[in-house]
Amino acid sequence: MRFVVDAMLGKVALWLRLTGHDTIYYGDIDDDDALVIAEEQGRALLTADEELYQRANNRKLDAMLVRESTVDEKVASVFFWFGITPNIDPSIARCSKCNGELEEITADNKGKVKDLVFEKTYDAYDTFWLCNSCDSVFFQGGYWDNMTLYMKRIWELMKELKG
Ligand SMILES: [Zn+2]
Repeated sequence: MRFVVDAMLGKVALWLRLTGHDTIYYGDIDDDDALVIAEEQGRALLTADEELYQRANNRKLDAMLVRESTVDEKVASVFFWFGITPNIDPSIARCSKCNGELEEITADNKGKVKDLVFEKTYDAYDTFWLCNSCDSVFFQGGYWDNMTLYMKRIWELMKELKG
């Protein structure tokens, strides 16, 4: 499943990328761009804007109107609708910043990220994920636990949606 996400749903885009979904999002994407991208690349369009949603419907595009009030509810409703499991697997995750593909770096070739992370971090970890597009480096630091907890919360909200 591939997505294009409107400017108001940045957090939704972030969690789609982290769960391994190719997701186009940038802060100043306009409605016409989003429609063209959805149509030409066969992507599902997620929008908080009713008018854009209607335009997508008129063109018979796969679109979802995301109107829930909180970020958590937005993420849960999108995952629920598309049948996405709220689980972060770094071997399939996309770069949260740019949607690039991540390369797994192990102890053998960890020199590749030496200049890209703090020395303390470099020494503390043997596995990293390097974005091939923007050179961002990810590792299973403290924020990892927070992300896992957050996915659990989304899972709970999805259960409520199921009723
Ligand atoms: Zn990147």
